[in-house]
Amino acid sequence: MPDASAGHYDAIVVGAGFSGLYLIKRLRDAGFTVLAVEAAPSVGGTWYWNAYPGARCDVESFDYCYSFSRELEQEWSWSERYPSQPELLQYLNFVADYFELRPNIRLDTRVTSATFDEDEGLWDVRLDSGDPVSGRFFILAGGAISVPKPPEIDGIDSFAGECYHTGNYPHEPVDFTGKYVAIIGTGSSGVQTSTAIVDEVAELTIFQRTANFVAPIINRPLDDAAHAEYRRTSFERHEKSRHSRQGIPHDQPTRSALDVSDEEREEIFGDAWENSHLFGLRLTFNDLLFDEKANDTVAEFVRGKIRGIVHDPEVAKTLTPRGYPYGTKRPCIGKDYFAMFNREHVHLVDLKQTPIMRMTPKGIATSEGEMQFDTVIFATGFDALTGAAGRIAITGRGGETLRDKWVDGPQTYLGLTCNGFPNMFLVTGPGSPGPLSAMVRSIEQHVDWIGDCMVHMREEGLATIQALPDYEINWMDHVQEVAEGTLYPRADSWYIGANVPGKPRKFMPYLGGVGVYREKCDAVVSAGYDGFAFGADK
Ligand code: FAD
Ligand code: NAP
Repeated sequence: MPDASAGHYDAIVVGAGFSGLYLIKRLRDAGFTVLAVEAAPSVGGTWYWNAYPGARCDVESFDYCYSFSRELEQEWSWSERYPSQPELLQYLNFVADYFELRPNIRLDTRVTSATFDEDEGLWDVRLDSGDPVSGRFFILAGGAISVPKPPEIDGIDSFAGECYHTGNYPHEPVDFTGKYVAIIGTGSSGVQTSTAIVDEVAELTIFQRTANFVAPIINRPLDDAAHAEYRRTSFERHEKSRHSRQGIPHDQPTRSALDVSDEEREEIFGDAWENSHLFGLRLTFNDLLFDEKANDTVAEFVRGKIRGIVHDPEVAKTLTPRGYPYGTKRPCIGKDYFAMFNREHVHLVDLKQTPIMRMTPKGIATSEGEMQFDTVIFATGFDALTGAAGRIAITGRGGETLRDKWVDGPQTYLGLTCNGFPNMFLVTGPGSPGPLSAMVRSIEQHVDWIGDCMVHMREEGLATIQALPDYEINWMDHVQEVAEGTLYPRADSWYIGANVPGKPRKFMPYLGGVGVYREKCDAVVSAGYDGFAFGADK
């Protein structure tokens, strides 16, 4: 057994969010020594960093929590259908305490580099604290959506007011009372922030580059009956999610949107709009993300809602999403988002008509003049999927770096491993279905697969595992091919890297679905780890 007191572990894990915490538990239970290194001063990952007003999960709490422990399930009760960021952070801290994971976590510490030492068969890992550690396995659980992307605007540093990014938001309360506030970005983070602070601010100005499809969030407190029902049915609920398309326990639609009358379709969309959840509109018909005409029906339904809610026709027009199919950028759910624009102190700047020229000491200069603000919030998203791994100097076999390997876009086998990088695993990496699913179900599947693989290697006396090059190429081709069979590549989304200037344009998440992916991963194992080469212990 490696000597943890000398800094040598079976596994070094990057991150202590949902993925890192479960990795510690799973690997430690299997008898491995583990160190998780976390840059934040707390566990929680996403739910530590994104402490912006209104931050909330838009998958139901019963589906956005661990399913691996019935005991944990008995101990924890969610207060709302959609859990808020503070409650999620509390949950993950509870998990860390409940399973006594903290001794395996080094907080406030960043992994800066990792180099595979061929002679020793070890990963030499460098931390910003200076002390070297090493592990037989190096596991990237640094998050698919964890590296905030600032906007490409000149003069940000010259701004004299308060300036925040939603993805790195202070935990101390920010006072918006009577303030002139700007929010740049209208994805989920921008929608949640704006609707949460609108009552507090003096004036709120939203800078919109691309209009978004936003459905109402139908949140509610969860009562004792809801918890009792959940505890009674959770096994079946989670099992269904594990084999579903999106990692949630809902039935897949079987009908085409084009096979019903306009009236029936309108009624079905209306019902999903009024009563349902994030995936509600998407789960009405089976071809919304595959067929342009079918997609037009749901897009037009939401456009009609916007026209009906927003009083000023010009503002409604600006808020109306066009130019990409519904659902191909992650749709949002928000509280009274479109109605917010009827309020006198809320303003909308269409960046396509009025671009930002630069930030100034007093605010934001657009093509139409300077606007003054006390506070500017960037809700401009993330360098997703490759961002966290790309910020670590990772060197594999023969001195090849991950940055070089991924220069034209990421390459992985099953989203879990990379040829040339033995004993390195990724959780929700490029090529995994994770980012397009209810993430916790995907995370659990990835971690279980990794844990089982490490146990298998120990039992068989195998020192290294790495993906075979052909299998990696075939997997990424398969990821592209599946994506091309859908409407997703038609949007400039973070799924395709389009939100980060210069990033190779490649569809990164696997769209085959959580259940299909699980079957593929299981089949690889049943076939003796098909597509992998093992090295024997020296
Ligand atoms: P993270 O939670 O991102 O944790 C990774 C951790 O690794 C971070 O704390 C980071 O500090 C650390 N790290 C990264 N690099 C290093 C390094 N070099 N050294 C040390 N530490 C490092 N998913 C859903 O399914 N449903 C939702 O409703 C949902 N809402 C979201 C809302 C927001 C605002 C965001 C940003 C994401 C949301 N997601 C949602 C996705 C969410 O990221 C995942 O559900 C999940 O929390 C990911 O867990 P993780 O542990 O894999 O990664
Ligand atoms: P996002 O979806 O990528 O949205 C970023 C927004 O900022 C977009 O409107 C984008 O416009 C705009 N933007 C980016 N750069 C800009 C620039 N230079 N100038 C002007 N506008 C700019 O990011 P996000 O809202 O943080 O969400 C990221 C992901 O995190 C989501 O897709 C989701 O998976 C997850 N999330 C979930 C929730 C939830 O409800 N649970 C909440 C937040 C985040 P363009 O569209 O034109 O690029």
